[in-house]
This record gives sequence, C-alpha cells and structure tokens, in this order.
Amino acid sequence: MRLSWYPATLVERRAETPTVATLVLRVPGWPGHLPGQHVDVRLTAEDGYSTQRSYSLAAPDHGAVLEITVQALGDGEVSPFLVEGLVVGDPVELRGPVGGWFVWSPVSVAGLVDRVLLVAGGSGVVPLMAMVRARHEAGSTVPMRLVYSVRTPADVIYADELDRLAKEDDGLEVLLVHTREAPPGSGRPAGRLSADELATLAWPPADDVRAYVCGPTAFVDAAAAGLVRAGYHDAAIRTERFGGE
Ligand SMILES: Cc1cc2nc3c(=O)[nH]c(=O)nc-3n(C[C@H](O)[C@H](O)[C@H](O)COP(=O)(O)OP(=O)(O)OC[C@H]3O[C@@H](n4cnc5c(N)ncnc54)[C@H](O)[C@@H]3O)c2cc1C
Repeated sequence: MRLSWYPATLVERRAETPTVATLVLRVPGWPGHLPGQHVDVRLTAEDGYSTQRSYSLAAPDHGAVLEITVQALGDGEVSPFLVEGLVVGDPVELRGPVGGWFVWSPVSVAGLVDRVLLVAGGSGVVPLMAMVRARHEAGSTVPMRLVYSVRTPADVIYADELDRLAKEDDGLEVLLVHTREAPPGSGRPAGRLSADELATLAWPPADDVRAYVCGPTAFVDAAAAGLVRAGYHDAAIRTERFGGE
C-alpha cells in the first residue's frame, strides 16, 4: 500500500533529557498505527530544500495526536533542529505508519506470545516505550522486561514514567545498564552491556518469549548476537536499527 504524506503541526514539546525532546504533533486524518511503527518526517525550507528522516512513534494510537522522541546528535542535520529549533505551531509533514514487522500489540498477540523482552540502546527505547505504554493502557498482564542501556543516569529517557510504571506493576521490569557513569551506590561499574551480561538479564530462551531489540546499528547487532549466543532462535528476535555507529 502506498503511504501518504500528512500535514502536521507541532502542538507541544517536552524536554526528556538535556539532548532529547518529545514532540507532540497534531496530524489530521492520521489512519492509526501499532506500537513499534515509525514515521518519516519531512522538513521543507523556504528556498524549497527538503530533507526527511525516520522517527519511531513513542505512544500507542491516540487518534490524530502523535508523539515522537528525538535525540539531538551534535553533528546532525535534522535532529538538533527538531529538538531545539521547531516552534509550537510550526508545520512539518509526516508519512506513515511505516513497518509491519517490528510491532507488538497487547491485542493482536494475546495467547501467542506470553512474555516480551525489550532491549534498548539509547534512543532505541522510543518504539519500545510505545509497547510499554500500550501494555499499560490495555491493562495487559503479559510479563514485559526492558533492558535499557544508557550512557549516564541523566540520559535515561522517560525516567520518571518508567520508574513509576515498574513500581506500580509487578509484570513490568526495567533494568538499566549504564555505559559511562553509574548512579551512586550502584553495584555495577559503568561499562558496555556484554553478551554474557545480557544473557543474565534476559529471560532464558523459551518458546513463549519474543525479544525486540532497538538502537544504533552496532548496539542492535551486538545485542541480537548476544541473544542468539544465549540460545534465542533468530525467529524469536525482532530488530530495528536506527543507523549511526
Ligand atoms: C526506523 C528508524 C527509526 C528511528 N527512530 C528514531 C527515534 O525514535 N529517535 C531518534 O532520535 N532517532 C531515530 N532514528 C534516527 C533518525 O532517523 C536520524 O538518523 C537521526 O535523528 C540523525 O539524523 P540527523 O539528520 O540529525 O543526522 P545526520 O546529519 O543524518 O547524521 C549525522 C551523523 O550521525 C550519525 N547517526 C545517524 N543516526 C544515528 C544514530 N541513531 N545514532 C548515532 N549516530 C547516528 C550519522 O552516521 C552521521 O555521522 C530512527 C532511524 C530509523 C531508521
């Protein structure tokens, strides 16, 4: 099916971390989406120069109001503008929803997948957060475990919400892995998530577990390989690569 471009307007910006913001966009006529899908965002300058990038949808389907969460990359062309330059009321164009494989819905898989493992590197948490929120909004009891690799405590996107949801809901576990700076009192020194450590944080492989892995390409490749080494079947692992190092 050919996807359409939709005119959209920025209606709210929420700072998530010093370099990450959530943009709330009103998109009249939006056809709806599933957690895990993404959109293409197109910006067009007054001189006609146009460029586009992909961004995951951060929330489940709420009609004409969409959320994306963008990390500003220092040398990036588009992301610093989206995080700091776009003003409430500004127009952008959106195309989507894109992607039919990297999706999870509490409705469509009920009875088929009994446990959901989410593995995020940095902004890769965005589509996984749509799954966490969808599960919560549906009142689903499907066990969900998020293993989330971040550089420092200040870089945790959705920190308060994840903390609150994990405290309220025994079925949701959030395991943070800090790569550059660990929080005070943490028993784990800062360092990258190794395959061995991932094997201890993930559930042991089983027929009822499906894993979703998302983040920069190198992170996704390493984490997916780690899960395979731990005994996961390829078919039980779904991946989304954001690009970059
Ligand atoms: C399916 C999909 C979903 C995505 N969802 C999100 C999302 O929810 N939030 C988000 O912030 N980004 C997301 N991205 C990445 C996004 O599309 C852009 O690539 C990113 O914002 C950089 O764009 P830029 O114009 O600022 O940088 P560019 O000017 O295009 O690139 C600048 C430099 O950054 C490097 N780079 C590009 N992407 C990354 C990355 N992800 N990590 C590290 N380095 C990188 C490039 O290799 C280049 O060296 C997604 C990408 C894909 C393919």
